[in-house]
Amino acid sequence: MKKAIITGITGQDGGYLAKLLLSKGYKVYGAQRRNTGKRYWRLDELGILDQIELVDMDLSEPYNIEKVIDEVQPDEFYNLAAQSFVDLSFKQPQITTLVNSLGVLNILEVIKNKHQKVKFYQASTSEMYGKVTETPQKETTRFYPRSPYACAKVYSHYLSINYRESYNLFTCSGILFNHESPMRGEEFVTRKTTKGLVEWLKTGKILELGNLESYRDWGHAEDYVEAMWLMLQQDKPNDYVISTGKTTKIKDFIKKCLDELNVKHEFRGQEVFDENGNYIIKTNPKFFRPTEVDALIGDSNKAFKDLNWKPKHTLETLVKDMIIADLERYKYK
Ligand code: NDP
Ligand code: GDP
Repeated sequence: MKKAIITGITGQDGGYLAKLLLSKGYKVYGAQRRNTGKRYWRLDELGILDQIELVDMDLSEPYNIEKVIDEVQPDEFYNLAAQSFVDLSFKQPQITTLVNSLGVLNILEVIKNKHQKVKFYQASTSEMYGKVTETPQKETTRFYPRSPYACAKVYSHYLSINYRESYNLFTCSGILFNHESPMRGEEFVTRKTTKGLVEWLKTGKILELGNLESYRDWGHAEDYVEAMWLMLQQDKPNDYVISTGKTTKIKDFIKKCLDELNVKHEFRGQEVFDENGNYIIKTNPKFFRPTEVDALIGDSNKAFKDLNWKPKHTLETLVKDMIIADLERYKYK
């Protein structure tokens, strides 16, 4: 039985990846940090909480990481833990750097010093392309990070490559474009929209958003975790862009959600009104960022060819999935 450690087990991707690995017969060790909140709702909704062995691990604590890897002796290590919210990284750049950069160094040092056979996956991101220098973005496109989050992820991306080249370790970085799902954190624009529009429909509470002009290449997390696993099953380690190759304006994502909810609406600039002229979405300047990533679109031909990976979901099935889940959750609020 293969053993895998997943950091970020309580996050969106951690849940989906754990479910995938369990279905393939892995023993899954879910690494969690201490937290007082309602943290297992995703694993609960995915129906896998009782199948995962939870282990305590904070990425900012090197001795803790070493002890867990010593005890588990994993075949594969998926590093999904991060301060993953771009907006917060402007307000908390130190903790973002500590976890997203030095946290990765802490893991790689343990693998290099004591566990060279462990295959390592690093969660890199399309945010590294930032103010893009080429369209679409592929593995060779130059990075131009636009936030402390993206700067920290550039460091860990290159560190993963450097440890592969310096010490012959099996390290892969997946440069994943935005991927969403019903399990997405409520602070991200897609989930904030699906949850917020359901709430507006039920209560009339106006949804407040920031800049709706940017474009994202949105996929479904369920498809993307499969690519992570495939990377670690190859003969040689490598880095891959994982994306759909289609990009959508935030306004169009909102429109698709409102259509799914059968709500007649009208955009007036950045704001959205119902057929009686009442607000559905209002602009709040506090959700604008000091620097923005305007448009992302990925080229995943390398992954299509080498990994034989292709996304199964479309943006339409993603929207439907998210709206249905938020409508269902609202019933039990
Ligand atoms: P989430 O924000 O849903 O999950 C992040 C996870 O990291 C949570 O489990 C969180 O724990 C954990 N974590 C945060 N800080 C620490 C720490 N100091 N020690 C241990 N664990 C910690 O992210 P996603 O699942 O969406 O993303 C997974 C990874 O992929 C992240 O690294 C993200 O940056 C990256 N990524 C995501 C993309 C996306 O579109 N989703 C795109 C590209 C990359 P807790 O529950 O306690 O907060
Ligand atoms: P990101 O691509 O990782 O930053 O994912 P987000 O979902 O956080 O943001 C995607 C885009 O939505 C960015 O261009 C944000 O500026 C924009 N956006 C507009 N309003 C909001 C909002 O209220 N919350 C968030 N998170 N993003 C918003």
